[in-house]
Amino acid sequence: GSKNFDVIIIGAGAAGLMCAATAAYRGRRVLVLDHANKPGKKILMSGGGRCNFTNLNSTPANFLSDNPHYCISALKRYTPHHFLELVERHGVEYVEKAAGQLFCADSSKDILQVLLTECDWSGAKLRMETEIREISERGDGYCLATSAGSFECESLVVACGGLSIPTMGATGFGYDIARQFGLEVLPTRAGLVPFTLQPALKEQLAPLSGVSCPVEVSCNGMSFREPMLVTHRGLSGPAMLQISSFWQPGDELAINLLPDESASEALQTLRKDAPQSTVAKYLNQHLPKRFAQALNDLHHWQGPLQGYKNTDLEQVADALNRWHIKPSGTEGYRTAEVTLGGVDTRQLSSKTMAVNDRPNLFFIGEVVDVTGHLGGHNFQWAWASGVAAGNAV
Ligand code: FAD
Repeated sequence: GSKNFDVIIIGAGAAGLMCAATAAYRGRRVLVLDHANKPGKKILMSGGGRCNFTNLNSTPANFLSDNPHYCISALKRYTPHHFLELVERHGVEYVEKAAGQLFCADSSKDILQVLLTECDWSGAKLRMETEIREISERGDGYCLATSAGSFECESLVVACGGLSIPTMGATGFGYDIARQFGLEVLPTRAGLVPFTLQPALKEQLAPLSGVSCPVEVSCNGMSFREPMLVTHRGLSGPAMLQISSFWQPGDELAINLLPDESASEALQTLRKDAPQSTVAKYLNQHLPKRFAQALNDLHHWQGPLQGYKNTDLEQVADALNRWHIKPSGTEGYRTAEVTLGGVDTRQLSSKTMAVNDRPNLFFIGEVVDVTGHLGGHNFQWAWASGVAAGNAV
């Protein structure tokens, strides 16, 4: 015979665990099913092992969606301060790194432990290593045929995340479930992901591997001012991860290597005041030494500034303030932190996360078309959407 629950949640990740405890504290009998061998694997690997679990400055403007207003209600009802209160209640030590970004002082394990403890205290049950084979409607609810037998529930919550990092157990199962029930799934692509480069440029930048410098990068009307990191595979670092969510294949990036000044004005003044000076000297004062050197080699800037015509100086200035690069692609889902696109939120209630004409089927977390910027926003969406559904199931 099959076992009965009020609520079954598919996915023991950030959103699913949050939803499970919220619903179980309300007295609902909750079961979380997951095919992986351990819950919350992405929480463990997040934030370089320190989990950037929220961002105190998170606003709806930090999210991408085809339906940008959808996330507002849930984010307003469960704020970063609510999650911080939970973290503090469990005695987890944390630090603020960049403005508003909260990380574990010790390890991501602490955040996973908070969620597992909450599930334990609330009475939510977890079942790992369980394959879900088929979902069918049964009476007013659903029946799940799994590798561990069948389970029935009144409310079904889909929290199985996106496609990024398949080696951590990511699958497109949530999208399949959405389609099974006639929902629209918007095209997905990798977000918060490093760029790859054409072989020639990659080779030219190879000596810079490991060098980081603050830049302002722009693409499709969006700009981010954060560090860029050159790697042996291409361009990474917060600036590149951020802009990758706004980049489409074929687009150019405009990188401002000297976001605090007009290189054109600075070089003209320098040519007037110190005609013997060189571009290399100027770069050395403004960029990491290795970066300055490699950039100079890349562009073959030679000789004293007095030998540069105005048009030459403008070319140099453009290369510094408006360096245009056309990435060949991204590293894709293999290393992406998030998946853009997903279940179209126009079919969901922004109050409960339930399907509009199916009030007992819910979609939360990364599987829906809400994607945060880098900096703790993605977990904040997982918590907020998990709580919204947990209060409604
Ligand atoms: P997940 O946490 O991915 O959970 C989904 C669960 O569903 C998993 O347990 C999976 O095993 C299960 N599942 C999948 N398919 C099936 C199936 N077919 N059957 C059964 N179960 C299934 N965000 C931040 O805010 N801050 C950070 O510091 C941060 N760092 C990150 C670092 C890395 C390397 C990565 C990859 C992501 C990072 N993110 C970060 C993003 C964040 O991890 C996700 O946005 C968040 O985990 C999404 O939560 P979720 O519950 O929707 O999905």
